[in-house]
Amino acid sequence: MPIPTSTRAAVLTAHGQPLTVGEIPLPSTVKPGAALVQISCTSLCGTDVHLWNGNMTFDGMLPMVLGHEMVGTVVAVGDGTVDTLGRTVSVGDRIGWSESTCGTCFGCTVLREPVACSSRGYGFMQRSDRPPYATGGLVEYCYVTPGAAKLLLPDTVADTHAAMSGCAAKTVLRAFSRVGGIRPGSSVVVQGAGALGLYATAFAQISGAGRVVTVGGPDDRLHAATRFGATDTVGLSGTPQDRIEHVTELTSGGADYVFDFAGAPTVGEEAIGMAAQRGTVAIVGSTGPVPAPVSLGTVMGKELSVVGSLNGDIADYYRAVEFFGTFGDRFPWDELFSAPVGLGSASDALASMHRLGEIKAVVDPRLP
Ligand SMILES: [Zn+2]
Ligand SMILES: [Zn+2]
Repeated sequence: MPIPTSTRAAVLTAHGQPLTVGEIPLPSTVKPGAALVQISCTSLCGTDVHLWNGNMTFDGMLPMVLGHEMVGTVVAVGDGTVDTLGRTVSVGDRIGWSESTCGTCFGCTVLREPVACSSRGYGFMQRSDRPPYATGGLVEYCYVTPGAAKLLLPDTVADTHAAMSGCAAKTVLRAFSRVGGIRPGSSVVVQGAGALGLYATAFAQISGAGRVVTVGGPDDRLHAATRFGATDTVGLSGTPQDRIEHVTELTSGGADYVFDFAGAPTVGEEAIGMAAQRGTVAIVGSTGPVPAPVSLGTVMGKELSVVGSLNGDIADYYRAVEFFGTFGDRFPWDELFSAPVGLGSASDALASMHRLGEIKAVVDPRLP
């Protein structure tokens, strides 16, 4: 098949407005190390919703293509393109990928942490009017840059699971890794009942937690949390102090681990309050508005460990894909995903996620 020279795309041209569906160019050649992929599944993330409605915005970011959780089939490949394990990537292969990194900056070479790359490509650096134009997920054909770490996907992992591994799942895996894993039988609080919170709830259960308390809303999401392994759920109707007291009671004095996957203004204050003496608090979701102050005296008095965790890299992506390969039947994962829609319905899907309707919208750009 001839290599396409342009692609259908849903482009964000103004915050809060419907995406513009039309054609955007593709690079004229596929560079060494790069691939052109026909997207079969893009799942949308909370960050896409924040970028769409303007809660998250950067100077000069528009017009851009949203979407950074996607998977597809290679239709053209540059010379020498290999995946992160050094395996040759060929036309017809199904691949997923993580953010692009430069490989030469301080973060890449001294820290050896891809998330610390000073020119890390991510979901808000996807201008559609500059080469290589189509690097986001809401396109029919996506250009996967040479610097993006790619992974040949096993047939046993569903498209939705591989797509979600691209951000939500790998973010959760990294957070659990950042706290050193959790001790079997320990108590875990998950703040947030969105896709990350529900996935983290299941991950804590599979990791051997004795008690998993999911804090969030609305009620239908808390009901879902029980199907994903929560032993207890706490809603958002009371005050932060009410929630702290409730969780402290459920965990007989406080939780060994508290994971913030919510990012609401009071999550830090609540996390510190819910943690047990010598507990660990992981901050993962706090991209949002100005936080309420936390009591440093409590951090000191309880001897808490506070850990930040930022998204994830190709290692976390690999582990997330491996996780779904192992536990794809363990929980009702499909509850997280809506039925796939075409690019023309992506705006409605974002609006629905914003209203806390759909947990994770799915776009198949091949659909009309
Ligand atoms: Zn770098
Ligand atoms: Zn994301």
